[in-house]
Amino acid sequence: MTQRLVIATTNPHKVEEFRELLAGVPFTLTSLSELGVTQDVPETGVTFEQNAIFKARAYADLTGLLTLADDSGLEIDALDGAPGVISARWVGPDVSYETRNRMLVERLAGLPDERRGARYQCIIAIAAPEPRGLLGVVSGVFKGRIAHEPAGSGGFGYDPIFFVPEQGRTVGQMTAAEKHAISHRALAARAARPLLERLANDDQATR
Ligand code: IMP
Repeated sequence: MTQRLVIATTNPHKVEEFRELLAGVPFTLTSLSELGVTQDVPETGVTFEQNAIFKARAYADLTGLLTLADDSGLEIDALDGAPGVISARWVGPDVSYETRNRMLVERLAGLPDERRGARYQCIIAIAAPEPRGLLGVVSGVFKGRIAHEPAGSGGFGYDPIFFVPEQGRTVGQMTAAEKHAISHRALAARAARPLLERLANDDQATR
């Protein structure tokens, strides 16, 4: 039987993206909700990497299974890297992305294209339950800029305002497959693949 790999995020959009991006890896992917894990691991780190490692280790210990966690977010140059590690709760945890996206576009109103630079970051950490702990960390970066207006309803979160100059459209205007060809999460998932393949052959990692 194939061993299980927990996709440790409570964000259903990220679970869906990882299922597509990790298709074919030699593990059965399972989500926290499928495992009945409702416990939230607080993100107390000040970097994406710290949070990804913390989540991977904590959920590996909670589930007793090999675990992949990502911490990701949007960094906007004109806002000194905000919203950054607090992307998921920027302005407040219950504020809609429609409101957040409007607020960001308004904050950058009047700025020329060359000052609207932004990037999505994704750090993936893979961990086994203690005593094995952390097994690897990989990352992906996706560069773009903040659109003058939100556009499209594809993807999730900040995708309607994340403009990709090479394509002349926002990620919100792309299909899932188009996003997966260039996104931060896709790049990180691609980097995680060889590690997962190695781990599948390594009994100890998943015990
Ligand atoms: P995390 O679950 O703490 O890693 O928060 C990630 C947050 O970053 C998401 O809730 C979004 O606000 C933002 N984010 C990360 N990746 C994406 C993406 O691919 N599209 C849109 N927003 C993203």
